[in-house]
Amino acid sequence: MIEVSGLRKVYEVKGRKAVVALGGVDLRVREGEIYGVLGQSGAGKSTLLRCVNLLERPTEGTVSVAGRELTTLGERELREARQRIGMIHQHFALLSSRTVAGNVAFPLEVMKVGKAERARRVAELLELVGLADKAKAHPGQLSGGQKQRVGIARALAGNPSVLLSDEATSALDPGTTQSILALLKRLNRELGLTILLITHEMSVVKAICDSVAIMRDGLIEESGTIPELIARP
Ligand code: ADP
Ligand code: ADP
Repeated sequence: MIEVSGLRKVYEVKGRKAVVALGGVDLRVREGEIYGVLGQSGAGKSTLLRCVNLLERPTEGTVSVAGRELTTLGERELREARQRIGMIHQHFALLSSRTVAGNVAFPLEVMKVGKAERARRVAELLELVGLADKAKAHPGQLSGGQKQRVGIARALAGNPSVLLSDEATSALDPGTTQSILALLKRLNRELGLTILLITHEMSVVKAICDSVAIMRDGLIEESGTIPELIARP
């Protein structure tokens, strides 16, 4: 479902030494899998995730999602392809001036989905994440866990085959973390959603991932299914 090959990303900062954030990464995420990328701060996880939807242009290498090679696409085609790749964020990235429903409706407006269909779809998505009663609330009135549920509903608006998660539970307390992880697992099972998540917490990987890659200094040190990694000496 996601194939990353020979991925390098070098950040050139004026007057400073270039930073090799990714030094040649290969990654293969199967359809329907929850794949975790685990590593400490600065390992290159966020750069890798942002290269998968081309928010960041790789310096070298290829990225294909759902059978489509993304690095060669033009801006317009890329925007279309990105609608099929949802993303959730550590700090939720919600629009504070819009209601919960308005936040979930936003990508549908960008996709020019008509008003009636939009309302139907927003209601369905809020139901899916357990927030049907919060449609009219503003993000400032919600708990962290509720905000992340809005983020998840918004990410699913375009009916993506892939969800990218950027430290989605790092800002949440342990109990709320468990409930968000349980929601991601349920979406993975019920919708067949493929999930690529980055985290610095082993507990997140243990809780929901089928496979894991361990990153350090821009490289993948080890990867495999959880049982494979545990079985290794
Ligand atoms: P992680 O998500 O694992 O914390 P990042 O991908 O954010 O790692 O960062 C990897 C390396 O790339 C770090 O050394 C970081 O300082 C550097 N880096 C990340 N983004 C930029 C940027 N926009 N410009 C310059 N350097 C960056
Ligand atoms: P905002 O004030 O945040 O812009 P609106 O109330 O204008 O929010 O609604 C934005 C979108 O959300 C609209 O496209 C509408 O279809 C949808 N929407 C609004 N209220 C609801 C609701 N209670 N249930 C489902 N969808 C809703």
